[in-house]
Amino acid sequence: MQRQPPPHRRAAFRALVRGVRACAACTGMRHAHVLGEASGPVDARAIFVAEAVGRRGGAVTGVPLTRDVSGQRFGDFLAIAGIDRRDVFITNAVLCHPHDHAGRNRAPLPSEVARCLPFLARTLDVVRAPVVVALGAVALGALGRVAPHALTLGAHAGTARAWRGRILVPMYHPSRQSTLHRPHDAQAGDWRALGAIVRAASLSAAGAPPTMVTA
Ligand code: SF4
Repeated sequence: MQRQPPPHRRAAFRALVRGVRACAACTGMRHAHVLGEASGPVDARAIFVAEAVGRRGGAVTGVPLTRDVSGQRFGDFLAIAGIDRRDVFITNAVLCHPHDHAGRNRAPLPSEVARCLPFLARTLDVVRAPVVVALGAVALGALGRVAPHALTLGAHAGTARAWRGRILVPMYHPSRQSTLHRPHDAQAGDWRALGAIVRAASLSAAGAPPTMVTA
């Protein structure tokens, strides 16, 4: 059955999207503004927070983690986790495309992450998914500025911790470069653990007895 969030949350989401699309606070950035209905359902089972818009991905499609290599790997990892993309919401710490003088992707500056932080905080208020997934160190750091946590990728990837009345799970970003820091097989194990965490949280939200979800 199609889930329907309350009208006031749908209205809050539309207002948030309008605010993002009107924002030009960051110079030196292509204003892709990747937030909208295609990001996922407001009543998602999990919200994924990635880093920033990619030149061949979200900057083309308007949707985070689509089309480019990271997007393809993200889809593969979701399949490993047994998570349907239609059930999750996907956003970025930075909603536009940080690029260098040649238009290539670059890491977002701390000042750019800080500027976009109010939009991330509002997104988390509107999209009240029980599980929040940080994809990479930039996203994990941004979430730590929304509300402090003591999690690191190296120590806590694929594990669940209580955070703001929700469950926060750090994961490596699905970029190919991330395998330099954590091998693909280990990351696949993280995603299987994440799938179990999301399913347990959904059962708990539906009224089943609480489940210990720490992987
Ligand atoms: S990255 Fe965020 S703060 Fe910067 S221009 Fe885009 S929407 Fe505005």
